[in-house]
Amino acid sequence: MEAYNAACDREAAFDPTALDGKAARGIAPPKSNWAQPIEQGPFRAYPVTGGITFTYGGLRVSDRGAVMREDGTEIAGLHACGEMVGGVFYEGYPGGSGLTSGAVFGRLAGTHAAA
Ligand SMILES: Cc1cc2nc3c(=O)[nH]c(=O)nc-3n(C[C@H](O)[C@H](O)[C@H](O)COP(=O)(O)OP(=O)(O)OC[C@H]3O[C@@H](n4cnc5c(N)ncnc54)[C@H](O)[C@@H]3O)c2cc1C
Repeated sequence: MEAYNAACDREAAFDPTALDGKAARGIAPPKSNWAQPIEQGPFRAYPVTGGITFTYGGLRVSDRGAVMREDGTEIAGLHACGEMVGGVFYEGYPGGSGLTSGAVFGRLAGTHAAA
């Protein structure tokens, strides 16, 4: 804590709404923004970890939810939806739309598989 506090930039203004450049350098890992000294208690500590919302990769499917070969033809009897499907969010992820993708492609794949 002493090393972190000593590394904090005390000149830059704290701005939680932007990448404020208020850094803590010379420590490992360095902190790029929002580095505020932690000096006044009481303190609480929580364990945190990273998570994978999804991978963005996966199988290519047709508009009927059928898995496609590299040549663009459907593989008969093989369907995919949800996390298995890639390419939907390559250009960006509108927050909260992962489950919508699963529902939409799930309905398509299920309908086609049952036909
Ligand atoms: C931390 C986090 C936050 C998220 N927040 C959001 C959000 O706010 N809004 C949103 O829309 N999306 C969110 N997502 C994404 C969303 O949860 C996923 O896109 C969605 O759950 C994928 O659904 P799925 O049915 O394809 O896969 P999953 O939900 O992963 O379901 C696959 C299921 O298959 C089971 N399974 C695996 N192997 C086997 C096996 N061999 N036999 C039988 N069963 C098996 C698993 O136990 C699991 O229940 C979030 C994801 C994460 C990780």
